[in-house]
Amino acid sequence: MQAPPTVLRVALPVPLQRLFDYLPPPGVQAASVAIGQRILVPFAARELVGIVSGHGQAEAGIEPKPALALPEGEPLLQGELLASLHWLAGYLHAPLGEVLAGALPAALRRGEPLPDTAVHGWRLSEAGRTALPAMRAGKPQALATLLAGIRDEDWLDGEAPGWRAPLRALRERGLVERIALAMDTQATEPGRIPPAAISLNAEQRSASDAIRAVDGFAAFLLDGVTGSGKTEVYLDAIADCIARGRQALVLVPEIGLTPQALARFRARLGVPVHALHSGLNDGERARAWLAAARGQARVIVGTRSAVFVPLPEAGVIVVDEEHDGSYKQFDGIRYHARDFAIVRARALGVPVVLGSATPSLESLHNAQSGRYAHLRLRQRAGEAKPPAVRVLDVRKQPLQAGLSNAALDAIRAALGAGGQVLVFKNRRGYAPVLLCHDCGWSAHCTRCGTPDKPSAMTVHGGGRRLQCHHCGHRRAVPLACPDCASLALQAQGAGTERIEEVLKERFPDAPVLRIDRGSSQRRDAIERHFAELGSKPGILVGTQMLAKGHDLPNLTLVVVVGVDEGLFSADFRSGEKLAQLLIQVAGRAGRADKPGTVLVQTHHPAHPLLLTLIAGGYHAFAEGELALREAADFPPFAHLALLRAEAKHADPPMQFLQRAKDLLGDAGIEIAGPLPAPMPRRAGYLRAQLILAASERRRLHAALDALMPRLQAMPEARKLRWSLDVDPAEL
Ligand code: ADP
Ligand code: ZN
Ligand code: ZN
Repeated sequence: MQAPPTVLRVALPVPLQRLFDYLPPPGVQAASVAIGQRILVPFAARELVGIVSGHGQAEAGIEPKPALALPEGEPLLQGELLASLHWLAGYLHAPLGEVLAGALPAALRRGEPLPDTAVHGWRLSEAGRTALPAMRAGKPQALATLLAGIRDEDWLDGEAPGWRAPLRALRERGLVERIALAMDTQATEPGRIPPAAISLNAEQRSASDAIRAVDGFAAFLLDGVTGSGKTEVYLDAIADCIARGRQALVLVPEIGLTPQALARFRARLGVPVHALHSGLNDGERARAWLAAARGQARVIVGTRSAVFVPLPEAGVIVVDEEHDGSYKQFDGIRYHARDFAIVRARALGVPVVLGSATPSLESLHNAQSGRYAHLRLRQRAGEAKPPAVRVLDVRKQPLQAGLSNAALDAIRAALGAGGQVLVFKNRRGYAPVLLCHDCGWSAHCTRCGTPDKPSAMTVHGGGRRLQCHHCGHRRAVPLACPDCASLALQAQGAGTERIEEVLKERFPDAPVLRIDRGSSQRRDAIERHFAELGSKPGILVGTQMLAKGHDLPNLTLVVVVGVDEGLFSADFRSGEKLAQLLIQVAGRAGRADKPGTVLVQTHHPAHPLLLTLIAGGYHAFAEGELALREAADFPPFAHLALLRAEAKHADPPMQFLQRAKDLLGDAGIEIAGPLPAPMPRRAGYLRAQLILAASERRRLHAALDALMPRLQAMPEARKLRWSLDVDPAEL
């Protein structure tokens, strides 16, 4: 007979590929602790929150330390989610403890107690009912009228935004009372879902029917032009899933989750919709995550990390704008939320829908090879017509903050006709460089770049401040040139700030609103900008933050300034990214009944990317690009991993990577490097990289399985910063 276990094997959030043995906390039997429970343990001089990952016997002669506490009696990670996270740790070659910790919301990762997920409602008290008829008109009175019946807090969030302040006023006067509602997860019988306000067109109908028909795993690429009504297809499929008593998870890009989008989901589905994004505080995030784990949250809409939400009753997973770069995590656990969503859908046995007007080449390739079902929406929904796209050749043309006279004329005409204009520039700040007109000196970041490859600082603050977009370093613009003392320092080129300045000067009667990462840190700041503009004629200036999200029915002209930088970038994905961006920005024009025009300013009017995109659209571009990728053995025809290393001196990273290359030996994979990284120095660290490639995924992972433990065991590994990036977004 086997002896009962005496120790717990714990996964800890530390960069080591192993589990750690602990005795259970005093008075607890090891056998009674479940896999997936949180556990508080002493580690070095700290206390860490780990996840119980196994049971075992203490090794002879080693007495493990006792754990400190078990925060709760039930496992937080279990079933499909736990199994999928094990798979993810293996795929990324990342420590299990870090992957498991990364899947928990921050508050739970820190060991905070489980939040209350009960749903509460509010209604008028006895006193409130008496007082209501005599109340003065105003926000408290309006809310009191709504609270004649019980309203749950989710409903109030959706239907009466800003309800908490007037509620406080009512509560202080004893006019309302809070009621814990019985959480009825089956509260959504088919009859309760409101009928759709829009009837789907034939293409939408057949797409949604295809999704609704599957029972089990299937992957769909919903490939529909901007404005073709993809969201209505998601909503239709989700409504069906809710009606069957299942949960739905919807992933949206970092900047796509607008209050408008959430309101649209709430209105159509008639059930509470739980949002999960970086705008929430830790408590709110933990509450939504746990509500999903308990089956209370039926529809979860969230950004990248929402892919880690437990779905005990999953019915469908949707990834909107599946091509979006924000799904890839760039540090720590470098997962791709779209790819992990597919893994989870397969493990859960539910359909997954990837939607985009500009699908990633990976997904298009999967659709073409039959791995995904390819659903197409070729027409804009409703009355909207596709925008007309024109190239503006600006060679030899005078430019003002990068804008040609033809573009300024078109803006004037659009405003005159009562329309709105979007000026898109993929570079924020005032100007990209500060240059001395007398000696050619230019401002560079002292912490980034090398003498061979200096890194320019961007001019900000209306021309007074310099900022590095790579390391965040800031300093004042010097009064005189540090090299020749000349006062002729000039801001060269144009960023969004400078464009805004020129447009305000040229069009003093139109509101000009700038939207970029500098001006609009928060999503609701953008919403306020849009609300301010309403449907009045006006100009929006911005970076890719403007490329998606909000519907602007009155937008009739889009001017794209400065695509040229993107046309000649070295990264293998840069063409794909530029094409997606151009199509997405263009898709903002003419969303309703007014036709839209898109002007693309360029010094390279004959560049093949622009010609193909304009003549044939995104799919023509993608065909050509896929052929190039195949010829060059790049993804999706090869699988890549990138080993990065950085240190204060140049030698250790190169030596470390050379060691890694030697260890790989003849593993049957392609190895390029070690070479300095495209950004060879950042924030004072010298950076190098080693590229690993294989045409078969299996081969690459076998090589990494053998390599990683040996790298981690090397003493040098602890003397520099290094990381492995499987399926890197760029090289
Ligand atoms: P996408 O997500 O593909 O960009 P949306 O789902 O946001 O498109 O739809 C674009 C616009 O078209 C929205 O205003 C939406 O209400 C409208 N729309 C979608 N489907 C239909 C339809 N079948 N009939 C009429 N209007 C529709
Ligand atoms: Zn000078
Ligand atoms: Zn810098």
